[in-house]
Amino acid sequence: MAEGRTQLDGSSSSPLRARSHHPGDVGREDVTVVFWADMFLVFIVALCTLLQLPRIYARLSNPSERRYGHFLHHSLPSASTSTASQTTVSDHSQSELVRTSGSDEKVVRSAPPTHIPAWESLLRPFVPFLRTHFVDRIHLGGTLFCAFYFGVLLYAGLYQTSVFTNPLRAGYVAVSQIPWIVVLASKNNIISLLLGIGWDHLNYIHRFAGRLLTIAANVHVIGFVYKWTMAGSFTKHISQARYAWGVVAIVCIDVLLLFSLAIWRLRAYNIFYLSHIIAFILFLVAVCLHMRAAVPWVIAGASVYVADILLRCIKTHICTARIHCIPELCATSVEIPSLTSGWRAGQHVRIRVVSMSMGWLGWSETHPFTIASASRGVAQQGLVLLCKDTGRWTRRLQELSRQSKMDGSDMTVPVMVEGPYGGPGDTMLSSFSGVLLVVGGSGISYGLAAAEELIRKAAEGTSSVTVLDLVWCVRYSDCLTPMLPIFTSLLAQSPSAGVAFQITVFHTRAEIPGRTFRAYDLPAGLTLLTGHPSIPIRLRDVVSRTQAAGFLPGDAGKPRGVLAGVCGPMELGEDVRRAIDEIEPDVQRAVGGVELLEEIYSL
Ligand SMILES: Cc1cc2nc3c(=O)[nH]c(=O)nc-3n(C[C@H](O)[C@H](O)[C@H](O)COP(=O)(O)OP(=O)(O)OC[C@H]3O[C@@H](n4cnc5c(N)ncnc54)[C@H](O)[C@@H]3O)c2cc1C
Repeated sequence: MAEGRTQLDGSSSSPLRARSHHPGDVGREDVTVVFWADMFLVFIVALCTLLQLPRIYARLSNPSERRYGHFLHHSLPSASTSTASQTTVSDHSQSELVRTSGSDEKVVRSAPPTHIPAWESLLRPFVPFLRTHFVDRIHLGGTLFCAFYFGVLLYAGLYQTSVFTNPLRAGYVAVSQIPWIVVLASKNNIISLLLGIGWDHLNYIHRFAGRLLTIAANVHVIGFVYKWTMAGSFTKHISQARYAWGVVAIVCIDVLLLFSLAIWRLRAYNIFYLSHIIAFILFLVAVCLHMRAAVPWVIAGASVYVADILLRCIKTHICTARIHCIPELCATSVEIPSLTSGWRAGQHVRIRVVSMSMGWLGWSETHPFTIASASRGVAQQGLVLLCKDTGRWTRRLQELSRQSKMDGSDMTVPVMVEGPYGGPGDTMLSSFSGVLLVVGGSGISYGLAAAEELIRKAAEGTSSVTVLDLVWCVRYSDCLTPMLPIFTSLLAQSPSAGVAFQITVFHTRAEIPGRTFRAYDLPAGLTLLTGHPSIPIRLRDVVSRTQAAGFLPGDAGKPRGVLAGVCGPMELGEDVRRAIDEIEPDVQRAVGGVELLEEIYSL
């Protein structure tokens, strides 16, 4: 019976044939079922895209939001850029510079983007429930989606068959998930583009899908091993090449699962990464040689993978970066002056420092970092990254940055920068009336990029944000020292841009030897406080100031909503989420809704 189910060309005899109308129907029925399961998943994605259409349309109809976020622009700072940028800031004009091709720039008239509230604003009563953290960093809504996904595959696995009599179906269920897993893992993720969700926010579905594939593949293998053992034909079967390839495939997929566990991802990223690539490619080859019917799914998955690699190559720039050590933040700043635009606040790039000083393996490693400056930023320092010293690679980078040049200037290194990736999706920060940014530690990268971008856009007349608060939580007060010049500059520009901007820095620890408290001469709008911030108070303050600040003409007599953006430890995200849920529904309605945007480092 097992043999009959495994011969897809229908050449062997089987009791099942008596049940089937035609020998070839045996495998075909399984193919048909999993094909329709895949089509159902496509339908779900299409439905979600349809619900997202108004936000997609609003974003695509705004020139600045449409153009940025896909490719970094390789441009040398030119006189025209700096003059134009300064003009747009000081003149408070309604126009903006848009790069068209190469280094050509043209001035187009623009206005704040249309604000379309997210579904969470409309589904307010259910949101606190769905956003409750359930497993690890996955919220209840995500967990319910995973349960639904599991249900779809279980249905496909059991529809008009039994796992005990037909282990072939489980094999088909496994291969049918290959394209989904590859799409969800790709950096240029079409699903995240369609749903307007940052790629990192979908990573948990990639992991879940991978686990389902592994379970289904193992059920398939165990089923056949049991059957062949019972029939006494195990050795006869396993000596055939196609089943030997089946063994290779299952070993690959189990190795892949083993090395993708959190312990490897967090403690030995390189092993996780290399095992993932090698085992997955080998799995694709082995599964084709094991099961001819799997070829279409493998081709679909491999095509997505190759397309992603090609896009990643296109998105890669080879540049020179200035690096310097920021001891107060235990971080290294990487500045790439030749990349000046093309990203959105909240996006990250993957960087490789091509220098043997990074070590034998270190020079080949690519690490992700959130961009800490705004595209066409007012500070004009190009693309900036703040890399916190957390492990081997970042520590080497810091050691390298300490080796300043003979003339005392910053060290320069050749780098490969790939991106931009991730980011706020269809959420347009500049379409809100008020924004609260709550960031912890190295999350300041996101805070800086977002604040700088919003002030620049407000100056250009392409943002409706009138109230902007940045709350930064750090351990020690001296973390403020390296940030003081940029904070001062942003605060100085905000009044002419028409933005009421405040920065509050909370330091949670008292002074320890070697890190002495400094009395700062703080500019107006910047406050340094001890302890943890009360997020509910901060959020209510932004909400009431936004209401008081009024609204844009033509906005139906009410503000366009408040966005709470958060980047930092999980607890900070929890605090912001709770603070939003505590705000009374009528207050939320009056301000146009309060939305949450979490920037997460999904590893
Ligand atoms: C989307 C994203 C944005 C990030 N933005 C910033 C930022 O702005 N500033 C900042 O200081 N840190 C940021 N990080 C974290 C940063 O990438 C890691 O701290 C860095 O790669 C650590 O490398 P390491 O070898 O020094 O440390 P290790 O001790 O090897 O690793 C420390 C942690 O970083 C992870 N990690 C290691 N190598 C990689 C890699 N190649 N790719 C992904 N993760 C890796 C590990 O899983 C581990 O949890 C970001 C991470 C992600 C995923």
